[in-house]
Amino acid sequence: MITLESVKKVFRTKDGEVNAVDTVDLHVQQGEIFGIIGYSGAGKSTLIRMLNMLERPTSGNVTVAGKSLSHLSAGELRKARQEISMIFQHFNLLWSRTVKENIAFPLEIAGKSKAEIDSRVNELIKLVGLEGRGGSYPSQLSGGQKQRVGIARALANNPKVLLCDEATSALDPKTTESILDLLVEINQKLGLTIVLITHEMHVIRKICHRVAVMENGKVVEQGEVLSVFRNPSQNITKDFVKQVTEPEETVDTIKHLVEEFPESKIIRLTFVGGSAEQPVITQLIRKFDLSVNILQGKVSQTQNGPYGSLFIQLDGEQESVDQAVAFLHEHQVEVEVIDNA
Ligand code: ADP
Repeated sequence: MITLESVKKVFRTKDGEVNAVDTVDLHVQQGEIFGIIGYSGAGKSTLIRMLNMLERPTSGNVTVAGKSLSHLSAGELRKARQEISMIFQHFNLLWSRTVKENIAFPLEIAGKSKAEIDSRVNELIKLVGLEGRGGSYPSQLSGGQKQRVGIARALANNPKVLLCDEATSALDPKTTESILDLLVEINQKLGLTIVLITHEMHVIRKICHRVAVMENGKVVEQGEVLSVFRNPSQNITKDFVKQVTEPEETVDTIKHLVEEFPESKIIRLTFVGGSAEQPVITQLIRKFDLSVNILQGKVSQTQNGPYGSLFIQLDGEQESVDQAVAFLHEHQVEVEVIDNA
């Protein structure tokens, strides 16, 4: 659906040249949710803006849905932009227009009839869960509702690709979850290809199929989300993975429990998208005749499986504990034994 070949973007400033995007090659397949992660200044915004020519590459080629964007006339580019729409961190709504009028805007520009516009707007309002809010102004909506308007407006002309520029960064965690759920629903229902940029690994973990990691304008690592999480090759990727797998409790804060239960084994289980937490723990009890007590930690369920860490207390024969540890490894759960030392 999207191909980038040796794409570069150089900004010339009074202080010299900035290689914002430096020789990037990427392929995004039709129907996938592709995430690009990096810290601030990595080049993510510049990259995503080149996917609909809000920014022109200095060199290299961007192809979307079989069309090379660099060679389009102004008219063709306008048309192409209907197929590649975008949502933004700060929503970019028209504040003097109602929800319905915001969603209708791209349909008016595309020259649709009033009847077509009305019926499409109602359909979109239902799709994004804004029934009853069509007459509200953006200032009367919550952040999550504003982003729902942004999504409805972006979908109005049936695009092939939806670009999401830090679409949940201005939202609280609970609203973020609901917007990400909506993006998954749209991806599945409409088969829409989604490309998102973010600095938050939990967003990637929750909804993306594949991920590219950017640093200093370059893509330093890319692949299936699950395999990148299990085997990050770059230090920056390891840092991002830690964002979502490190529990808030550290080994230090758990040490007192090790002293409290000197006969028990205290271990940390880190789930990186393999087997689900509940069946694994049930197996430890049933199969290996161990007593298991969950002490602290949190695992969350995502599209890509369970992610997070738990500290657990195990009591039983040493042989059973060893077998249990081997069993956990087989089920892609990382195990760290916390000892007294
Ligand atoms: P990110 O989205 O990952 O934070 P950006 O793509 O915004 O990164 O920026 C990448 C680099 O390009 C940064 O060093 C930034 O300062 C620079 N940059 C971005 N836009 C411009 C611009 N219009 N003019 C000059 N430099 C820019």
